[in-house]
Amino acid sequence: MEQTTGILSDLIAFPTVSADSNLEMIAYLANRLEDCGARVDVMFDASGQKANLFATLGPETDGGIVLSGHSDVVPVTDQDWTSDPFAMVERDGRLYGRGTCDMKGFIAATLAMAPEFAAQISRRPIHFAFTYDEEVGCIGAGHLVQALRERELKPRLALIGEPTSMRVVEGHKGCHEYSTRFQGLEGHGSDPGRGVNAVEYAARYVNRLLDLRGDLQQRTPPDSRFDPPWTTLNIGALNGGSAHNVIASKAQVDWEMRPVQPSDADHVKDTMARYCRDTLLPAMQAIYPEASIETEVVGEVAGLTPTSQNEARELMADLLGSNAAELVPFGTEAGLFQALGLDVVVCGPGSIAQAHKADEYLSLDQLSDCLRMLERLGDQLAN
Ligand SMILES: [Zn+2]
Repeated sequence: MEQTTGILSDLIAFPTVSADSNLEMIAYLANRLEDCGARVDVMFDASGQKANLFATLGPETDGGIVLSGHSDVVPVTDQDWTSDPFAMVERDGRLYGRGTCDMKGFIAATLAMAPEFAAQISRRPIHFAFTYDEEVGCIGAGHLVQALRERELKPRLALIGEPTSMRVVEGHKGCHEYSTRFQGLEGHGSDPGRGVNAVEYAARYVNRLLDLRGDLQQRTPPDSRFDPPWTTLNIGALNGGSAHNVIASKAQVDWEMRPVQPSDADHVKDTMARYCRDTLLPAMQAIYPEASIETEVVGEVAGLTPTSQNEARELMADLLGSNAAELVPFGTEAGLFQALGLDVVVCGPGSIAQAHKADEYLSLDQLSDCLRMLERLGDQLAN
């Protein structure tokens, strides 16, 4: 425990807000893992300012489990902290600091256990995956999973240590965010036929999206345990135009969907692309050939689909002595690993209620529960 809190204090001191570099923290993690004999791979992003780390202890074979966590934290701007968010302090059985629960506590626990894992494991490997830019759309994990796809050896299971109060989570919806921009042609309001009104086309686009809500409800998987059980769709913002008497040349729709299954997201995207190509764009371009509709993907975080067979869930039930598995309303990197063919659960110390807030903390009780679970995992991997 003392070792874990020592490591955690070191990790909190790296101010790895998503906008900034995480390289110092990754170097620290790499050093520690190399010291226990892990094979460590640091993968940089295009800017060279951020990196993922993937490390393996044990045999070079297929299988084994990935312990995964993100290195970045949300900003502390405009938050009223009692003490320095990047200097961990202990008060009343709680460790305070930015990232203690989301999710450096889990990372510290896995690092503290690494020497023991190294001494124990023989047949199956154990992997560490520490990523960048989770808080801004799981970007690092996307790159990491892509790199794993290109490898010959595949892990079998993944445990994502996001704060779930150490309860096992087997599913969450995806979160897809888009901005759709309409470029029309300005003109005088007295003669609408001579311009292309971007606001009117945006309104038609929104209407088509809203029509799809009915489709999505009909597509609800019969055994869905999500709340609500179907894929939801929300129009978050609609902006455009300049004045009452001017044909609007520009408009933008910001919208999102929360898919319960990947095929729903494809259905929405395909339908909207077809509607633009076959209906809206020909009408716009008949008047103004340069008219356009462009959709920017702000983020597409895959959901974690609950499945009847899930070895990771069974393993965690063994380690924690409970068969319960829940669904949660927040997104994680889990869906990306699931898409790679791994069995995945989310389970980590601390509560999501404390994440992202001022005076974020992790209770020592939660951290010790996590260490106990990892100890049992080490024992399992020894056989
Ligand atoms: Zn997180």
